[in-house]
Amino acid sequence: MSAAPSTNEALSSLVDRTAAICARFFPDGLPSNGSTSPYLGDPSRLVISALEYLEKKEPWTMAKHPEQRGELAATLDLLCTRCLEAARAREPDDPETARRIRERIGEVEAGSGMRRVRTGEPLFYTPPVESPLAPPDLPSLPRYFDTHAHYDDIQFDGDREETLKHIRDAGVELVLVPGCDVKSSLAASQLAHTHSFIYAAAGIHPHEASGAGESELREIAGMLGDLRVKAIGEIGLDYFYDLAPRDVQQQIFRRQLALAQETGLPVIVHDREAHGDCLKIIDEFPDVCGVFHCFSGSAEYAEELVRRGWFISFTGSVTFKKASKLLLAAKAVPDERIMIETDSPYLAPEPYRGRRNDSSMLRRTCAFLAELRGTDPVSFAELTLENGKRFFGI
Ligand SMILES: [Zn+2]
Ligand SMILES: [Zn+2]
Repeated sequence: MSAAPSTNEALSSLVDRTAAICARFFPDGLPSNGSTSPYLGDPSRLVISALEYLEKKEPWTMAKHPEQRGELAATLDLLCTRCLEAARAREPDDPETARRIRERIGEVEAGSGMRRVRTGEPLFYTPPVESPLAPPDLPSLPRYFDTHAHYDDIQFDGDREETLKHIRDAGVELVLVPGCDVKSSLAASQLAHTHSFIYAAAGIHPHEASGAGESELREIAGMLGDLRVKAIGEIGLDYFYDLAPRDVQQQIFRRQLALAQETGLPVIVHDREAHGDCLKIIDEFPDVCGVFHCFSGSAEYAEELVRRGWFISFTGSVTFKKASKLLLAAKAVPDERIMIETDSPYLAPEPYRGRRNDSSMLRRTCAFLAELRGTDPVSFAELTLENGKRFFGI
């Protein structure tokens, strides 16, 4: 096999993710228009460009909207075509990988207009390398707390356990998996009960606010007694996507802040382009403490929150170009109030932008912020680990 590991990684990510999404949403076969529309760009960019297309189209979001089912099928069909083109390109040097891709991503069955897509073993299974115990005189390795990662997401359906093992090997000591609705909150707590390094939060995301009524709020409240559930989240307002009417988002946000007040649990706030209203609403609950996750505001806004006793958490988005306003905010947060997160599978940091994110990439964000704040990555990892433990009561 002549391909570099990074090429294998990208191909594996494309095939695993495409297969997992197809198998989940089209278990009886994916409708296909049968066209083979070839990729016209630079052949060496075929896989990367298909991955970028996958991220841009967000099929997992389309899947939530029944009226987009046709577009979802067309998007997945094109991704399958790209996977098969990649298999064809591999054939001469690496027939085994080409065979495995074809086994997963079927050709269109003649006459039926359908293709069968199956999940299976990862395309390239690399057994984890046993790391020899570090002699005591070596400097300690960084230990990370990824305070926000969605490991219940369908993008991990193909290789969840392998990924969780891989991030442990990469020095990730703790992970907090938040919920976005009742189902994902249950999935998060399930992960927390089956993995000693995972803790959960339960909550209704602003995107899901329209579908949440009294019974959903009751179910969330019912999960808060679970000792592996350490916070209420993620909750808040998203005026960028506006997937639920703003008054409904605000109402569901307030109801969950009230739950935090009753239980004394901290909250994880998702605030996208809703800074003013978020601040106004949290001020109605002065006893509640929380974190603004994936912070996207200014230094002044961060200071307002810090003054109220709140925490600020940063994702890989600090490493994106044009993040200068965010960099000022990342410098302004005092040591005792800063946390870091991946928001996996979203928001992979540079230079992995556009790929599926996982907690092993947290080290990029950690190193970037450490340099920005004039410290070293090991100390900054330790600081944010301790802050996370204190915040979530772990
Ligand atoms: Zn969020
Ligand atoms: Zn999130």
